[in-house]
Amino acid sequence: MPTLSQVIIFFGPPGAGKGTQAAALSATLGIPAISTGEMLRQAARSRSELGKMLERVMASGQLVSDDLINQAVDERLRRQDCQAGCILDGYPRTVAQARFLESLLQQLKLPEPVVFNFELEIENLIHRIMRRRHCPKCGRIYSVNPNAQFIRCQKDGALLVQRTDDSPASIRQRLELHKNTCAELLDFYRARNYHEIVASRTPNRVSEQLLAHLGMRMPSARVASYPQAAMAHAGM
Ligand code: ADP
Repeated sequence: MPTLSQVIIFFGPPGAGKGTQAAALSATLGIPAISTGEMLRQAARSRSELGKMLERVMASGQLVSDDLINQAVDERLRRQDCQAGCILDGYPRTVAQARFLESLLQQLKLPEPVVFNFELEIENLIHRIMRRRHCPKCGRIYSVNPNAQFIRCQKDGALLVQRTDDSPASIRQRLELHKNTCAELLDFYRARNYHEIVASRTPNRVSEQLLAHLGMRMPSARVASYPQAAMAHAGM
């Protein structure tokens, strides 16, 4: 059993910056960041019947079934690269998923999770989601001027794209769903290793909060390394 394994859960509404922080923390801790939304988007690209069904569910802003997502997470956590733990972004989202994860972690002899709840007001969330773009090649997330077109990834030059479920209707539905499901899930975790994160701060300030709760300091190489910061400097 790995001695210093860590399981970290990022919980919070869409647009709160979980994906950006998961990528950064993954690089710092050397454990994989697992986004169930990204796993589902990949599966949806297959154009199989299952893929088409997933695409429909995601575009409508609903959740996919607990069974399906639990099975996908079960398979993913059994892989070699999760032996020292992982960062879970967007999972669990229901109490049934949280209970499933609890028993899976026990089976895999992984520790109880540290839960970070990203908090941000709704106006700020919508503002961020409308500006959110990502690189289809490397997955890097950017915050851009929503009117700007043909923006390229700073890492590999690919044209940035917007998620198909980042439409106003789907965003409203996802925010509503989050509001309705969050209380029950937080009741499950609040008495455990649980921390609230002020997600309205700059990416570096949010990282500092996460690392402080984990008893770590910000690696100096990371300061001002976020693509958002770079885009802001580029006047975008
Ligand atoms: P966001 O947090 O912006 O809604 P995600 O990328 O985390 O985006 O998820 C995109 C979509 O994938 C969700 O709207 C939902 O349909 C599906 N999804 C992701 N994670 C889960 C989960 N744990 N349980 C059920 N559905 C999920």
